[in-house]
Amino acid sequence: MKLRTRIIAPVIAAMLLLTVVLLFGMQKMSEVIITDALTREGQNGHFQVDEMTNNVTRDLESLIFSVTSSQQFIKAMTEGDRLRLYELARPYLDKWQAFSGVTHFYFHSPDGINLLRVHMKDKHGDRIRRKSFLFAEKNGNTGVATEVGVTGEWVRRVVVPWRVEGRLIGYVELGVDMEHIYASVGHHMNSTMMVLLNKKLIKSPEIWESRRKQLGFSPYVWDTLSDEVVAVHAGMKIAAEKLQLIKPDANFAGEIRLGDKMLVSQTRSVYDGAQLIGHEVQMLDITNIRTVVENSSHIIIAAIILLLLTLIAGFFGFLGKIQRRIDTEEMRIQQQLDEKTRELRTYQSGLEEQVRQRTFDLNRAQSVAHVGSWQLKDGVLEWSDECRRIFGVAPDAPVNAGVFAACLHPDDRARVLAAWDAAVAGGDYDLEYRVQVCDQVRWLKERAEIDRSFKMTAAIGIVQDITAQKLAETGLREAKNTAEAASRAKNDFLSSMSHELRTPLNAVLGYAQLMGMDREISAATREHVGEIERAGEHLLSLVNDVIDLSRIEAGKIELSMEAISVKSVIDKSLTMIAPLAGKLGIRLINRTAIDDTVAVRADASRIRQILINFLSNAIKYNRPQGSVTLSVQIDGELLRISIADTGTGIAKAKQERIFNEPFDRLGKENGSIEGTGIGLVITRRVCEAMGGHVGFNSVEGQGSTFWIELPLTAPVEISIDIPVFLPAAAVDGNKLILLAEDNRVNQRLAVALLNKQGYQVDVVENGKEAVVAAASGKYALVLMDCQMPVMSGFEAAAAIRSAEAGTTRHLPIIAMTANAMEGDREKCLSSGMDEYLSKPINTQRLKELLQIWLAQ
Ligand code: ADP
Repeated sequence: MKLRTRIIAPVIAAMLLLTVVLLFGMQKMSEVIITDALTREGQNGHFQVDEMTNNVTRDLESLIFSVTSSQQFIKAMTEGDRLRLYELARPYLDKWQAFSGVTHFYFHSPDGINLLRVHMKDKHGDRIRRKSFLFAEKNGNTGVATEVGVTGEWVRRVVVPWRVEGRLIGYVELGVDMEHIYASVGHHMNSTMMVLLNKKLIKSPEIWESRRKQLGFSPYVWDTLSDEVVAVHAGMKIAAEKLQLIKPDANFAGEIRLGDKMLVSQTRSVYDGAQLIGHEVQMLDITNIRTVVENSSHIIIAAIILLLLTLIAGFFGFLGKIQRRIDTEEMRIQQQLDEKTRELRTYQSGLEEQVRQRTFDLNRAQSVAHVGSWQLKDGVLEWSDECRRIFGVAPDAPVNAGVFAACLHPDDRARVLAAWDAAVAGGDYDLEYRVQVCDQVRWLKERAEIDRSFKMTAAIGIVQDITAQKLAETGLREAKNTAEAASRAKNDFLSSMSHELRTPLNAVLGYAQLMGMDREISAATREHVGEIERAGEHLLSLVNDVIDLSRIEAGKIELSMEAISVKSVIDKSLTMIAPLAGKLGIRLINRTAIDDTVAVRADASRIRQILINFLSNAIKYNRPQGSVTLSVQIDGELLRISIADTGTGIAKAKQERIFNEPFDRLGKENGSIEGTGIGLVITRRVCEAMGGHVGFNSVEGQGSTFWIELPLTAPVEISIDIPVFLPAAAVDGNKLILLAEDNRVNQRLAVALLNKQGYQVDVVENGKEAVVAAASGKYALVLMDCQMPVMSGFEAAAAIRSAEAGTTRHLPIIAMTANAMEGDREKCLSSGMDEYLSKPINTQRLKELLQIWLAQ
């Protein structure tokens, strides 16, 4: 709807309503104005009547005085000369009638008998009983009253006692018909005045009628009104039927229209003393007031209507302008809206395309990842395409809990359904299970998030086909088992290799040492024996390194990590390497400036191994009279031990090969310096296994600096090494040693070595024989090989210890074995042996151990 229609219609309605209200208001206002005017006029009328009556009374008194003061009247009165009185009084009455409206003129004798009615000279001699006279007679004063006579006349009377020289000679009474007073008030007030008197006051209609005729006053007859007669009438004649409308008991008897005049009446009760005798009616002509009020109302209304019309017209124009603006704005907004709608549609179709693409991608991703998704909402289950494929359900087939349960592998069904129930009750839903798709079993992994906030369970889940993964896991497990078996086999191979290599080496080195001890051999033979010993030692270190490296590469490295004092490790390493440095004429310089408490977390023996490796290389690859400097740097949490030499250095081109490949000696293979090319490789692996780093820098021809870096740890408490003082090298030849050894060559070598050191030896070939021999109690110590037929050395040691159980006896047992793999020592000790000596036997070490254990 247009703005104008929307606004103008209610505005017009409102204005019409306003006009009606105004009209009504004007009407009311005119009534109020008229009422007000009437009230004022009415009150004024009554007041005027009362005023006029009082004036008339005063006039009458003065008129009476003009008579009573006249000597002629006094004479005629005292003589009782009626005729003379009449002759004197008649001219007065005529004059007074004309000017003052006096209608009644009496002379009464002192006894109240009427002497003369000037206005009606033939009627006299009656006794006067009217209130006005009785008052004057009784009080001797002027009596005044407005009295109704039996003929219906209503007269204002004044009775004055007439005294001459104090003697009462009679009374003079004057009366004015009230009609006269009302006529003059009505004339003065521009209103019609009437007095209606009660018919009961009047003797008979005839008398009343005849008097009216006589006076010629009233246009009304006896029957004009039912209860009252119109006693006084001044002003316009009111039609009888209209006169009847006047309610004597109401203040306003309503409006009376007379031709083009409009009258309203106002009534008041009239009393004679206390007696209600009738009503005074005042008719006001309100034609002018009404006309004025109506005219002004019309003018005001016309003005208002004109104003409203102008306003409406202006408003109409203004609204038209606004409407045009609104239309333009509406058009603009509509255009914008259309544009936005188009944009929105484009955006929506773009979004739809994106959603389509994403759904496609998601399906593809699900299919590539073998992950399907599902959703349970309002009891309806939905499966993604991949989910259907995983469960082997056709794309358009219905899905529900029953279909899902039917897909489950019979062996897993109860477990899966129980898991779902538990998840709905508040747990997690994350499990692996199998489904049967045709004759194929698939492994699935499923997870779901359950929303329990509604009465109906809502959930969203993913299901992943992990069949391939499961198969791979099985394959992996098998491969791992195979690899572990291979590793075990390698380890077994290594340990047997170690054993097999060490056994002959033991013989070679042992006999070489034995021969070296022989003083009778020639110098050339001694030199040959020395060569055999050096070659043997080299072979032994090669074997040891190879085994160590293999063990590291097999991940078998065992580290006993603890906080160790860096200074003490350095000191020990330097002590151990000092003979080599001395032998080659290289100066060892220790520049470490740390105290004993500085510690790193590492395996002490492995750190020593690394330092000795660096130190021995620095010595070996040095120049004659060169030096090796060891120093320590601390940088934050890191500790670095550097070993710098003044040797040949390493060519730049070869530097990147350092630490990497075993057996790579960087061209030193054919040189005179002994080595294996394994040391640095082991060093790096071991260092990294302990959480550290190794590195170096080298300038060819100037020297190299190798370093190891390890994280610092809390300081260690300093423990003082108590040196072991060995007893004097006195051998107790009475102490018999038992040797358990199956290898003949080794038997002979050991016996020769022991005999050389002054010991007596009995030999047994296996563990069982050893146990039997030990039971004889004649042996002070047992040297026990570990790998022997019938019973191993471990079993034999255990048997000996169990035989000793409960006694104070403890036969020292020292393992003497080619089993030099890591853990072999522990194995020996845990089987009950007291010490461990690896083959090839270090004669010096054997000597020390025998001294220690046989001394006990
Ligand atoms: P090797 O038993 O040969 O010493 P390493 O693994 O300890 O084996 O060292 C590998 C090679 O690195 C050595 O053969 C040598 O060529 C070179 N090398 C090691 N340390 C030094 C050094 N301080 N000065 C010069 N060359 C060195």
